[in-house]
Amino acid sequence: MPELPDISAYLTALRPRIVGQPLQSIRIASPFLLRTVSPALPEIEGHAVRSLLRIGKRIAVEFDNGMWLVLHLMIAGRLHWRSTGAKLGGRNDLASFDFPGGSLVLTEAGSKRRASLHLFGSREDLGSIDPGGIDVFEGSFDEFRTALMVENRTLKRALTDPRILSGIGNAYSDEILHAARLSPIQQTHRLSDEEWQRLFKATRETLQTWIDRFNAEAQKTFPEKVTAFRKEMAVHGRFGQPCPRCGSPVQRIRYADNETNYCPQCQTEGKLLADRSLSRLLGKDWPRTLDELEALRRR
Ligand SMILES: [Zn+2]
Repeated sequence: MPELPDISAYLTALRPRIVGQPLQSIRIASPFLLRTVSPALPEIEGHAVRSLLRIGKRIAVEFDNGMWLVLHLMIAGRLHWRSTGAKLGGRNDLASFDFPGGSLVLTEAGSKRRASLHLFGSREDLGSIDPGGIDVFEGSFDEFRTALMVENRTLKRALTDPRILSGIGNAYSDEILHAARLSPIQQTHRLSDEEWQRLFKATRETLQTWIDRFNAEAQKTFPEKVTAFRKEMAVHGRFGQPCPRCGSPVQRIRYADNETNYCPQCQTEGKLLADRSLSRLLGKDWPRTLDELEALRRR
C-alpha cells in the first residue's frame, strides 16, 4: 500500500500539474469507485484545483468551490499521468481526471476493487475519513510515545495502526524498526526511555530519507513505479538477503497476505520469531536462534 513517502511523491508530482488548473471532465470506469452520493461528481467539473493535502494514506484535492475529492489507493491503486483524454481501455483503469495539460488516471491491479473516491462539500466533512493518527513530523516526542502507549501492543502493530500514527504501513514500519534496532514483537509497554528515543528518531529519519528521495524523483518525472519494494530498503521484502548493517540474513514472519521482515542480529538479539508456516513444518524443531537455523540449513 502506498505509504507516507509514496503519497508525498504523488503530491510533489501533482502540484505543478493540477493546482490552479481546471478539472475539465471526470471519467469513471468502475461504478463501485465513488463511495459518496452527495455532492455529485459533476459539481467539481469545470472547477480549478486550489490545493492538495495528505490525510493518512489518502490524497485530498480541494477545488475552488470548496469541495474536496479524496482518493484512497488502498493496496493496488496507483496514479498515472497520461496525455489529456487518454482512453480508459485497460482492465485496471478505474477513472480519469482530465486537465488541460494531461489526464490523471487511477488504476488498480488485481480483481479486488478496494481503491475508493469520496467527494465532500467542505473541509469539515474530511474529518469523517481521517483515521486520526498523529503526523510524526508535527507531533512531539511525548505525543508520539503517548499515542503508541494507549494500548500495550507489539511495535509492529502499533506503528502501522492508522489511528495511532499517520501514513505508516508494512514497508516503512519494517524499515523504521530496523533503523531503531527494535524487535517487531516488542511490547510498547516494555520499552525503556532510551528505546523510545531511538524509535522516535528512527521513525522521523527513516521517513524523511525516503520522502526526500522520492520527492527528488517526483520533481523530475511522475511517479509511475510506486512499490513497497525498493532495492535500497534494509529489510523490507529482503528475506534471506544480507542485512546492510551486520550482514546476517534478513528473516520474516509470514501472515496470510504479507510478511514482516527483520534482522535477528540487529533487532532480536539473534532470536528467530515464530513464523506460522515454518513452525508448522518444523514442529518442535523450530529454530530459536540464527545459529540454530543455520545449523538446520547445513544438515
Ligand atoms: Zn543486521
